[in-house]
Amino acid sequence: MRFRAILLVLLLVASSMIFVGCSPKSLVSTSQEISIGRDAAQQVESQYKVDKDPKLNALVNNLGQNLVKCSDRQDITYTFKILDVKEVNAFSLPGGWIYVNKGLIDETGGNTDELAGVIAHEIGHVVARHHAAMMGRQLQAGILIGTLTKGDVTTLANIAANITLLRWSRKQEYEADKLGIAEMWRCRNRGPDYNPQGLINFFGQLEAKQQKEPSKFEQILATHPVTSERIKRAQEYLDELKAGKAQPE
Ligand SMILES: [Zn+2]
Repeated sequence: MRFRAILLVLLLVASSMIFVGCSPKSLVSTSQEISIGRDAAQQVESQYKVDKDPKLNALVNNLGQNLVKCSDRQDITYTFKILDVKEVNAFSLPGGWIYVNKGLIDETGGNTDELAGVIAHEIGHVVARHHAAMMGRQLQAGILIGTLTKGDVTTLANIAANITLLRWSRKQEYEADKLGIAEMWRCRNRGPDYNPQGLINFFGQLEAKQQKEPSKFEQILATHPVTSERIKRAQEYLDELKAGKAQPE
């Protein structure tokens, strides 16, 4: 595994030399995304217990795969898993691995629209190839290894796992919200009807709830910053879709 990881680093560095001047996300290919994601998924699952509850897994899987069918990225296989972790969080890895904490599912209190909203948002990050963009930027700057692992590198999987803890930019959050809302909107016509308002409501509630129990929401708010501007933009986009003034991109 270590050899493969080193090979991947070399490949990434080589491709960055060839494609100097290209957009950061074009420096990381889909197959590289998948390899890195697979290693990172192994690492995540060695660190955290995966919840195997059949009913909950069926719920998350069905939501995820239904939303994927309404998404703009079909060139990868998406995997949805639940982590037996109390903190409210969900995250995606390069290449389509998406994890939802049990704590987040509990927080939605059985509201399928809210859970679908969070999952749709995570799919949005994968569709927009935000992980590839992040890794590509680090490559361009020549600081991929040092920055992402604070100088303590063993394998590329470490780098990818650390990516889950990095904060997305506001622009990336707007984009993932928009793509998530678009997925849910398209699904309304094609199959299961998920209300995109669930996405906006859930992220909107996080900020208010954080005041009471900051530690419970720390991770999700650090990795997916919620701002009033973000909520406003998501609501405006949904209202435009409803009014027929916008088309899901
Ligand atoms: Zn996000």
